[in-house]
Amino acid sequence: MIDKSEFIWIDGKFIPWEEANVHILTHTLHYGSGVFEGERAYGGKIFKMTEHHQRLHDSAAILDFKIPYSVQELNQVAEELLKRNHLLDAYLRPIAWHGNEAVGVCSLKTSVHVGMATWVWHSYFPLDHKGIKLMWAEWLRPAPNMAPVLAKANGQYITNTLCKNKAELMGFHDALMLDYRGYVAECTGSNIFMVKNGVLYTPIADCFLKGITRQAIVELAKASQIPFVEKYILPSEILLADEVFITGTAAEVQPVVQIGNQEFQQGPIALDLMKQYRDLVRKP
Ligand code: PMP
Repeated sequence: MIDKSEFIWIDGKFIPWEEANVHILTHTLHYGSGVFEGERAYGGKIFKMTEHHQRLHDSAAILDFKIPYSVQELNQVAEELLKRNHLLDAYLRPIAWHGNEAVGVCSLKTSVHVGMATWVWHSYFPLDHKGIKLMWAEWLRPAPNMAPVLAKANGQYITNTLCKNKAELMGFHDALMLDYRGYVAECTGSNIFMVKNGVLYTPIADCFLKGITRQAIVELAKASQIPFVEKYILPSEILLADEVFITGTAAEVQPVVQIGNQEFQQGPIALDLMKQYRDLVRKP
C-alpha cells in the first residue's frame, strides 16, 4: 500500500492528501489524455529534476497541450512539496491532465490541471538482492505512427499494466516487451541493457521511453571506458548475453537473473554500474 504523506500540490495549492481528488467526468480518466513523471529524491535532492520536468513539458507538447507552469516553477514546487512533507528520500509523481468541461474525445476545450504528489517508496521490486525475473510480454510496443510513443502519456500504459499484471500473476517480477518489429524494447516501467563480451548494449529508443536513468547509465559507462553500443537487439541476442539489467527512476538499476526460462548470472558490469548509480544519485 502507498505510504501517505501530508500534502499534495494541485494547480498552485498545497492541499491535504485526502482532498486531492478529481471529478468523475475528467477527460483524462475517460481517454487517457494526460502525461506524468516519476522522480526520486535522495537526501532531499531530486535526481535529474529539471530533466524530468522538461520531459513532462515535452510529453504534453506531443499530446497537443501546454503545461501552465514553467520547468523552473515545477522545480520549485517539487522542492517545496518535499519540505512541507518533511521528506528527504522519496518518490515524486507530477501529473498533468485535462478537466471535465467537455465530454467527448476532443481535449482542446478542456482545462489543463497539474498536480504533484510525493511519498516514501523504498523499492519498486521486492529487494532480496537476488535479481529480477522477466517474462516475455504478450503486447508489443507500437510503431511511432501508431501511438505517441516518445511521450510519457497515461493512455499508453494500458498494455504495460496488462503485461505487468500477467508477470506478477505468473510469478515473475516484470515483463520484457518487444517492439512492433520484433526487437527487444523495454520493460513495463524501465529500460533494458545487456552485456556481451565486455560490450554494453541497449536498444535504440525510437518507439519507447528514452529513460533519464538510461541516459545516466550510458554516461557512467562512457566515463568508465566501458564500450557502449546502441542498436536493435533481437530476442535471440539478449538470450545469449553475459549480463542483463534494467534501469528506471523507480526501479533504479536491477540485475536480471531470468528472461522466460533462460537464466542469467549477476555480472561485474551490471553490479559496478549499479553501485556507481547509487553513488551518483546521492552526490551533493
Ligand atoms: N520505460 C517506461 C515504460 C517507464 O515507465 C519508465 C519509467 N519512467 C522508464 C522506461 C524509465 O524511465 P526513467 O529512467 O526516466 O525513469
